[in-house]
Amino acid sequence: MWKNMGLTSKILVAMVLGIILGLIFNYTGLNAEGGFVNNYLVNGLFSIIGKLFVNSLKMLVVPLVLISLICGVCGIGDIRLLGRIGTKTFFIYMVTTAIAIATAIGLGSIFGIGKGMNLKPENAFEAKDAPPLIDVFSNIIPSNPISAMANGDMLSIIFFAILIGISILMVGRPAKGLVQSLELINEVILKMVTIIMNLAPYGVFALLVQAMSDLGLDLMVSLFGYVAVLVGSLAFHFFVTMMIILKFTSGLSVRTFLAKMREVQIFAFSTSSSNATIPVSLRTVTKRMGVDNSVASFTIPFGATINMDGTAIMQGTATIFIANLYGIDLSAGQYLMVILMSVLASVGTAGVPGVGLIMLSMVFAQVGLPIEGIGLILGVDRLLDMLRTAVNVGGDAAVTAIVAKSEGKMDLNVYNDPEAGTKDVFNGYIDPESEQEFAHVMSDGIMGSEYDDLNKR
Ligand code: ASP
Repeated sequence: MWKNMGLTSKILVAMVLGIILGLIFNYTGLNAEGGFVNNYLVNGLFSIIGKLFVNSLKMLVVPLVLISLICGVCGIGDIRLLGRIGTKTFFIYMVTTAIAIATAIGLGSIFGIGKGMNLKPENAFEAKDAPPLIDVFSNIIPSNPISAMANGDMLSIIFFAILIGISILMVGRPAKGLVQSLELINEVILKMVTIIMNLAPYGVFALLVQAMSDLGLDLMVSLFGYVAVLVGSLAFHFFVTMMIILKFTSGLSVRTFLAKMREVQIFAFSTSSSNATIPVSLRTVTKRMGVDNSVASFTIPFGATINMDGTAIMQGTATIFIANLYGIDLSAGQYLMVILMSVLASVGTAGVPGVGLIMLSMVFAQVGLPIEGIGLILGVDRLLDMLRTAVNVGGDAAVTAIVAKSEGKMDLNVYNDPEAGTKDVFNGYIDPESEQEFAHVMSDGIMGSEYDDLNKR
């Protein structure tokens, strides 16, 4: 039965089984420290499989973003158009993030979360420093592109790639061969993503067993008000607000979008990292939704860094919760400040696990809320991080679809085909035809007739 299932179903089943097994380990006490399950399974086998899986995704992020964005810029061909797409995307990202946090503040206030509760911080919270915004802007131009790539500084990589792309366009015709080679490399990297996606059911299973057996759901229950409003706001923002925006601005089918996003969101959920999910997002929007690489190669990595609707929602909800707990009344001006700070903070920080808390301490410092209050929500944050990351990547893809559709850079036949992008699964079998074709190319040499054919395509 497992053999005949589609990849999405396999990933879904793996997710559910991982959650169930993890919770069993947690509630039966099998995961007790020092025991066999804890030592050899949760922190042994599953931890290794999970880490290998996340590493294999992260491995592809930098090469994929660099190469696909260079190709993307060359594909657009017009620098003014690039500027327009960039500005439009930035604007929509900021507006949707502001709407997200306003929703959270609104719902949090309506339900009055945290009022009348008497909680003491269980975990001391020490705020880590967030990068000052001024550094974020000045580091957009990397003094050393290789170290920017080694550190995965997404905005610097984006800048460098765009500059290379523009320069290739300026060189013009003689650079044609270079662009073709880069396009081929891009295809090869996307094939690597395909291979890794086929291993996803095992990776997702291992990550979820580990997360659930470590954390359990008890804490979620004790902070019920906070968790319920946060989860409600996340769901409302993604399923209602974003889908209304998608429908009205692009006319695209919401149902198709949600179905095609499922895999990406499970990846984000199990890795808690928008950055690590970039390869899967990029593959999904281009191969499954028909978005042209010239748009997606920019909007997806850019969104993973600057657009975090889910994280902004957490900040809004946490602000209301902690303010109510400590009996602090925030003025309308302070709420506006929270919105502004959260939007700015999301620009300045990368989409990696747990970064939302660092941003939250920036927001709290700005409006004068006690930073140690963050210690109260620390325990549940790891699980909520998973959920909000799924919303973060959902927002990136929705805006990508909106921008691509508005620029005529979307193939609707691909978007509306439920099977699109699902066929090239890798099951250890390589089509003999492509193997033979490859043997020809190699024996003719790279300048042989096959290469000329490629040139004409
Ligand atoms: N983990 C989130 C992301 O990667 C960021 C956060 O909210 O901590 O998008």
